[in-house]
Amino acid sequence: MKTTTERPDRKEERRAYLREFQRKWMAKRRKAWLDEHPQCVKCGSSERLEVDHIDPATKVHHCVWSWSQERRDAELEKCQVLCRACHHAKTGRESRERMLKHGTPTRYMAGKCRCEPCRAAYSSMRRRQRAARKEALAS
Ligand SMILES: [Zn+2]
Ligand SMILES: [Zn+2]
Repeated sequence: MKTTTERPDRKEERRAYLREFQRKWMAKRRKAWLDEHPQCVKCGSSERLEVDHIDPATKVHHCVWSWSQERRDAELEKCQVLCRACHHAKTGRESRERMLKHGTPTRYMAGKCRCEPCRAAYSSMRRRQRAARKEALAS
């Protein structure tokens, strides 16, 4: 049976083309922004620069380059330029801080906190460990 409809791969081709077009366009915008901010604000390096949200809690989305100028500018207001090394150091520090949040076994043990959420988190971890040990012994 013959059909007269468009070959299905034509659609796929077109989608791929648009994706590529958008990718290039976003890269251009990103580069334009980096041209205005050519140095890492921490160490002054101009190698492998990345966009960092100064306060990660204010981050709406990392993919700002596809946005309208207005939204993009508002989001980039909250950003700074860091080189890859400084960016890594910062995200590492941020995740360590997150680890020290209350209500975690880490905070209970390493942070020696005995507040209610920390104690609850610690005891539920111990319960899980005991159960796992029992299971291991039984098998
Ligand atoms: Zn740096
Ligand atoms: Zn606590």
